[in-house]
Order: sequence, then structure tokens, then C-alpha cells
Amino acid sequence: MPGDTPELPAKDLRTLIPEYVGLARETTLLNPQPGDPGMRESSLGGELLWPADELWPYCAQEDHWTYGADWRNRTEIVPGAVPMVPILQLFARDVPGLEFPEGKDLLQLVWCALVHDQDPGPVMPRLYWRNEAEVVAGGLLTEIPMVREGEYDEDHMPAPSTLSPTTAEDCPRWLDLPKDMWETWEPRLRLPTGGSMWPPDSNIIGTKVGGWPAWTQPADWPNCESGHRMEHLLTITGDIQLGDCGGVYFFHCRQCPGLPWDWRFDCP
Ligand SMILES: [Zn+2]
Ligand SMILES: [Zn+2]
Repeated sequence: MPGDTPELPAKDLRTLIPEYVGLARETTLLNPQPGDPGMRESSLGGELLWPADELWPYCAQEDHWTYGADWRNRTEIVPGAVPMVPILQLFARDVPGLEFPEGKDLLQLVWCALVHDQDPGPVMPRLYWRNEAEVVAGGLLTEIPMVREGEYDEDHMPAPSTLSPTTAEDCPRWLDLPKDMWETWEPRLRLPTGGSMWPPDSNIIGTKVGGWPAWTQPADWPNCESGHRMEHLLTITGDIQLGDCGGVYFFHCRQCPGLPWDWRFDCP
């Protein structure tokens, strides 16, 4: 957007491009705040409710590395496997807008907090759907392995935070709209002087469930193996809890058995 392009007032968007406003979906903003969440609470970067009979996941990717103390010196390779770090835990009671698979009421996410050359950013995230009562009945893993100093990159390691979910209407980023769709809308934004107004983006940038991805780069929706375009499950964006992490986006396909999922990452 050129610097001198006037922005269309948000109140006029509904009248001028009702199709855009019509794409709104409900999202649940997670609103993380640094705190001390317990393992029975929804959290970002908090302790996870983990079954005793399930090994904690590790990342054994070769040559994952950290920027270390000096970010220009990216040679601090961490050989061998390191424990993944807790990222997100959501209980169904806190996120009524999130549809859980039958019999499940707990979603957990972990990833490796090192940097990986083949895909900048956290890699090999893992996602788990569980049943809280079953996990508790089966006993909990008491000693969750922690990453040590030098085994993680600050930007991929959220500060433990409690969540205060709220719902909001969320529209796609303009980057997410097909070009031909955009071209049919653009003439409505022309000014008598020849230029065009820029429409306000009604996409919410934040850590959220449902709604639309808060892409900072052009959209990159994954398809499942059967060719269905996956649905946006959740977005985790860099903020005070997660440094310059950029955006990490999770998607899944509810048309296929086993709920296949995938993820994307983009730079801030
Ligand atoms: Zn790794
Ligand atoms: Zn599918």
C-alpha cells in the first residue's frame, strides 16, 4: 500500500464491500498474560497434563541450532535430541467455540524450540487431542523433561501465561483473498481523483482459535492428502510472550478420518 493512499473508514466497508464483511467468522482470542498457570488450566507455555504412560516427545532433528548469546553467531549447534517444550493447552470448557473430536476435551501442542535450517522457525510441532478425565484416571507424568540453557531459542519459548479467552468477529487478511475476487471489489474503492482508497483489514492479529489465519506473508493454506483444503485451527503469533517468533498456523481436515493436521510458519 503506497504511503499516501487514504484508508477507507471501517464503517464504510460494510456498505462498499459487503462480500468481505460476509466472510467474517467467529474467533476465540486467547489473550495470554504472563502468570503461573496450573496443569489443570488452559495455558500458553504452561505445564501440560500429561499421561504417565506416554513418553514426553523429543526432537532429534540433526543440526538444530540456537542463536545463542550473540545472534550473529549462528553456530551453536545442539547435537542430539532435546525435549520439546509446552506451547498450548486448551480445555474445552474454556474455548466453547472450538469443536473437539468426539470424546476429547483437551488439546495440547508442543514444539522444538530450536531453529531448523530446512524450515526457519519451530519445527516438528506435535498436536494431541485427549480426554481430561482419562488422563487423570491413568495417572500423570510427574517429571516432565525440561530444556536446558542453550537448548532453546528465546523466540520459540513462550513465557508461562494464563489465558482469558474472548470471542470476536474475524475477517480474512486481504493477502488471503484470491486476486480475481479482489479485482471485482477494487473499482468500488476508486476516488474521483483517480487513486483508490485502501480497505481496512478486519483480520485480528493475535493468538487465537478459529477465525482466519493472521498471515504476515502471502497465504499458504495446506491441503490434506485427499486434496481437501484444510481449515484454520489456530494461530500463535509472536508477542510479548513469544518474542519475534512470527506466526505459526495450524490447520486440520475434518472431512478425513483421523483428523489430519498440518502447520505453516511465516516471519514477522
Ligand atoms: Zn529440533
Ligand atoms: Zn481431508
